[in-house]
Amino acid sequence: MQYLSTRGNAPAQTFSQILLGGLAPDGGLYLPIEYPKVSGAELDAWRKLSYADLAFELLKKFATDIPEADLKALTQKTYTADVYRNVRQGDDPSQITPLHVLEERDGTQVILQALSNGPTLAFKDMAMQLLGNLFEYALDKQHAELNIFGATSGDTGSAAEYAMRGKRGIRVFMLSPHKKMSAFQTAQMFSLQDPNIFNLAVEGVFDDCQDMVKAVSNDLEFKARQKIGTVNSINWARVVAQVVYYFRGYLSATTRNEQKVSFTVPSGNFGNICAGHIARMMGLPIDKLVVATNENDVLDEFFRTGVYRVRKSAETYHTTSPSMDISKASNFERFVYDLLGRDAERVNALFRKVETHGGFDLSGKNGSDGGEFAKVEQFGFESGRSEHADRVATIRDVHAKYGIMIDTHTADGVKVAREHLTPGVPMIVLETALPAKFNETIREALGRDAERPVGFENIEALPQRFTVMPADVQKVKAFIAEHTGL
Ligand SMILES: *Cc1c(COP(=O)(O)O)cnc(C)c1O
Repeated sequence: MQYLSTRGNAPAQTFSQILLGGLAPDGGLYLPIEYPKVSGAELDAWRKLSYADLAFELLKKFATDIPEADLKALTQKTYTADVYRNVRQGDDPSQITPLHVLEERDGTQVILQALSNGPTLAFKDMAMQLLGNLFEYALDKQHAELNIFGATSGDTGSAAEYAMRGKRGIRVFMLSPHKKMSAFQTAQMFSLQDPNIFNLAVEGVFDDCQDMVKAVSNDLEFKARQKIGTVNSINWARVVAQVVYYFRGYLSATTRNEQKVSFTVPSGNFGNICAGHIARMMGLPIDKLVVATNENDVLDEFFRTGVYRVRKSAETYHTTSPSMDISKASNFERFVYDLLGRDAERVNALFRKVETHGGFDLSGKNGSDGGEFAKVEQFGFESGRSEHADRVATIRDVHAKYGIMIDTHTADGVKVAREHLTPGVPMIVLETALPAKFNETIREALGRDAERPVGFENIEALPQRFTVMPADVQKVKAFIAEHTGL
């Protein structure tokens, strides 16, 4: 299996060649030359597989240059009941992503798929835990090392740290805005005592952290000497790892391949739902893929109108589902590439226009950049939007009716899912975080604290290990160099 850039100006690569990288050299994103197809016989055989075995079957179609025995060992080591142990009472952790039927509406089941039982209580662990093991494996083979450098305002940074802690050949340097994350999120990251994890608390806001990451990635000499890498959501291996739970969700919710299901996905950077799109392209019987956004509705706007318009910082809102607070969706280019019939030249032109004009228009109206919006339906996409008041009402409603506490992001998903039901087609809502991470809104909705999984009761009281830094890129570079010794 070879991979091409969505912008068409980069050489074809293997899975291992793109594993440790981010963007293609031409600024595009990598996709396989064609999506592997899954047959009905395969789906039948996969119904009874464990999550780890299913992950192996899917991964081997994409990572064709890694020996199968090695892939098998990596997936077995990653998807265990011990790693994904933070399940709700009564759930079986060996299922890894258990389903909960919430309700039956108009002959349609609304089902929650739990994806947030990993070490950081958010769905990013589903892919990041595998990435940690893949990275360690690849670096071992190349006798190489890698220093992951990034910025976080919450979920991504902690998922990366918990995936990379204690891994040979890897260090993580993670910037976060000092005293701006929730006490729970801060404790999750800063309580890690592993010597290969470095938390840098920056005296500034998240944008200052991101600016420093950009400055470092533009300093090619420093980047090369310090062996700097990233683990952001455009990483192809992360997307592939996410394809697995769409298959698992479908296979668990159905008994025959003639049945279809739909998915609703709380979305920000379009990484999660992009994996759903790929599963559908591979032949998984998915009816609709519903994008749920919060007040930051760039994606909802596109899927309603065909206009993609990235937001300025002043138009990017801080909401109570903060992991969806985005101004543009970094994985969206992968879908646009397929929507345009894989015309890399046009993708290139459209995303250059994003840089120069802040967006593009595929509505087909006079003066637009094309009419492909009309084809969106063929790809199953629909969308909806949810606001703070919807979130609070949905958390309250789901708790009152079903005794299940959901987090703010998942609440956005349930709200939008209920507006997109098709009679007879089960709707699976992906649960992207556990409520313990967003206690303030749970208190607002339910007048009580969120449940905490065993072992998280007192994490705020654990000793913390972090370094406070001014928002000064020279100081950050000096810190990295001092700790890598490179
Ligand atoms: C990252 C995240 C999202 C958004 O996922 P994308 O892949 O960026 O669309 C939604 N909910 C939670 C809790 C997250 O951490």
